[in-house]
Amino acid sequence: MLDFILDEISERVYVVDPKTYDLLYVNWEALRNISLSTSRLGKCYEILQGRDSPCKMCTNHLLSWDRFYTWEYVDPQRNQHFLLKNRLIEWEGCPARLEIAFDVTQKEEQIQSSEGASGIENLITKCAETLYDGKSPCVSLREILKIVGEYLNCQQIYVFETADERQELAVEWCAPEVETRFDKMRTVSQSLLKIWGGLFHDKKYVMITQLDFQKGQYQEEYALLNPLGVYSMVAVPLWIENHFLGYLAGCNLQERSESKAVSAFHSVASFVAFSLWKQHALDQLEKLSYWDSLTGLPNRNLFIEDMEKQAELPVGVLCININGMKEVNDSDGHKVGDYVLIDASKTIQALIKQGKQSCYRVGGDEFIIICEGISHFDFMELEGQLRMLFSGHKDYTASIGSNWLDCEENLSEVVRQAEERMYEDKKRFYHGKKPSKRYRHQIDDVLGLATPGMLQKLIHEGSFHIYYQPKFSVADSKLTGAEALVRLMPEGQDGCPPDKFIPVLESCRLIPILDFYVFEQVCTQLRKWLDAGKEVVPISTNFSRLTINTPDFVHQLVTIRDKYQIPPELLEVEITETVEADDPDCFSETLRQLQENNFFIAIDDFGVRNANISLLIDVNFHVLKVDKHVVNKLHDNDKAQQLMAALAKICHPRQIKMIAEGVETEEQLDLIRETGCDDLQGYLFSKPIDVKEFERKYL
Ligand code: C2E
Ligand code: MG
Ligand code: MG
Repeated sequence: MLDFILDEISERVYVVDPKTYDLLYVNWEALRNISLSTSRLGKCYEILQGRDSPCKMCTNHLLSWDRFYTWEYVDPQRNQHFLLKNRLIEWEGCPARLEIAFDVTQKEEQIQSSEGASGIENLITKCAETLYDGKSPCVSLREILKIVGEYLNCQQIYVFETADERQELAVEWCAPEVETRFDKMRTVSQSLLKIWGGLFHDKKYVMITQLDFQKGQYQEEYALLNPLGVYSMVAVPLWIENHFLGYLAGCNLQERSESKAVSAFHSVASFVAFSLWKQHALDQLEKLSYWDSLTGLPNRNLFIEDMEKQAELPVGVLCININGMKEVNDSDGHKVGDYVLIDASKTIQALIKQGKQSCYRVGGDEFIIICEGISHFDFMELEGQLRMLFSGHKDYTASIGSNWLDCEENLSEVVRQAEERMYEDKKRFYHGKKPSKRYRHQIDDVLGLATPGMLQKLIHEGSFHIYYQPKFSVADSKLTGAEALVRLMPEGQDGCPPDKFIPVLESCRLIPILDFYVFEQVCTQLRKWLDAGKEVVPISTNFSRLTINTPDFVHQLVTIRDKYQIPPELLEVEITETVEADDPDCFSETLRQLQENNFFIAIDDFGVRNANISLLIDVNFHVLKVDKHVVNKLHDNDKAQQLMAALAKICHPRQIKMIAEGVETEEQLDLIRETGCDDLQGYLFSKPIDVKEFERKYL
């Protein structure tokens, strides 16, 4: 009886056993539509959906006896829309599922096209208005996404760019009260692009419905999107002229609105692409005005702007200028010139720490590095490494000037001084006067000291020890002072004499670090002795010419001396005299500053090569140390004796004390007495000894 009535209904009707999924009945309308014969009824999922297992969207568990459960379904194969009504009925004495399927495809299409036509028109007008109302491209882009999102009533809309573009322009719009998926989507956006790249290249779109996923289609996408809670997606490519920019994607669209989204996205894609392109053009302009296109470094404009900001103290400044850039360009061509600049910028960038240290290309061949919040130690190490790299290890050289400040001061002034020092360095380069040649003959990398961080490590491990060599009065052999001499004695390894490792540290410009360390150790020791009530004598410390040339050399010494509150008369600064003085003006200025700050100054190794007589006239100092080579010649060389006597005559009226170094024999001692030398130092009285022995014997 019921089947007779059902056969009369113009909609499709099915009756199914909910337990076995067996089709119990199909009305004429359904038979006609799916070309079935009543004799070949089987499982509903096989006959109606062509599957071999029950459908995921099956509503069996939602059925009730008293009312219809209504839902909609789009048949993707036939592109048909159905309104489905399901309930339980009694069929031949057993519960059965009744399904009436209303085909609403045509009606839906009509609604969509009429609603769609006017809707899309509105959408385009709104987007165009947004684009041309003078807002920044980024703001317009966000507004366009909002307009589209609200029009589609979807959860999220994204704009993703291709990987080689800047990622910052990836944008998300979220419906109210929908949580952001931005970060997660960003992480999968490039993987999706890889899957869809071919389609996008052919200017095709992607549409994945919830049902597609349910049917197990788009497995790659499913693996990426399902963990993010994305169950449907529509994506269209963004092109401007012939450039592919990225894609516009909508997530979790309302059921059956995917095709609406496709047309909406197609309509606004050009607006979105235009906003992106405009933003890129603006970025490019900004880049050109703030960034150097050859090296990728910030340029002078950004340098000037950054200079106006408050820098974090202490600040280290390094100016680097490539030597002979014009000659390189003229003789080898601009390509080689460009290579040099790019290589120099890479060398610098590899050494500086991103974040607090910035390198700018401020002129054709000039770079400035600003290091904020850097310790003096780290700054010296950086300078040393740069000097090493730019002085012979490369196809070209560079002049370097540095400055370091730890108190409030005008940063521009500090930069100016560093630039001045760089020009001084350049002058030296062009005059062919390289700094201290004293040890140049042997610069094998002892103990890997030239490796970045090694010196710091050895210092930290306490591998450098200070030995003291006493000095005595020639007249009565009384102790008058001592010289601090550094020893490198790493645990478990052979020791290494200063004549071996100091040249290495000088050649890689790391020596200032060690010199300041030794000076601080001396001050620490003096403080201990003073605190213990010992009767102490002045201690001299050796400083390399490179250390003397470091910015703030005197300031550093004063800071350390003050830290340990050492009376100035207990500290002596030993500086090697050299004929090839790197910069005589700078040298005398440093000596003047030392004197102004009450340091005793000793000129070391006098006479080791050609005695620098002008030094005696031009520079003020307190002690002249005659080198052991001169002392060695005293016994068989009249001239050596006459030189010593003449020096004594020059020194004494000017209150300059004379010390003979390297006195090994009684004979030498007698001859020294005759020359009028004040003090002596040498193996005859004592070798350099460790602190314990020194304390035991002399304090
Ligand atoms: P210097 O400043 O002229 O120190 C004197 C050197 O002569 C020391 O060698 C000392 O051990 C050695 N000497 C002293 N009396 C005699 C002697 O009677 N006969 C002989 N043959 N030698 C004697 P050392 O300690 O090997 O140091 C060598 C050089 O290394 C020093 O020469 C100094 O220029 C440098 N040096 C040592 N410590 C430091 C330091 O902390 N910083 C710097 N920049 N240089 C240092
Ligand atoms: Mg010395
Ligand atoms: Mg000496």
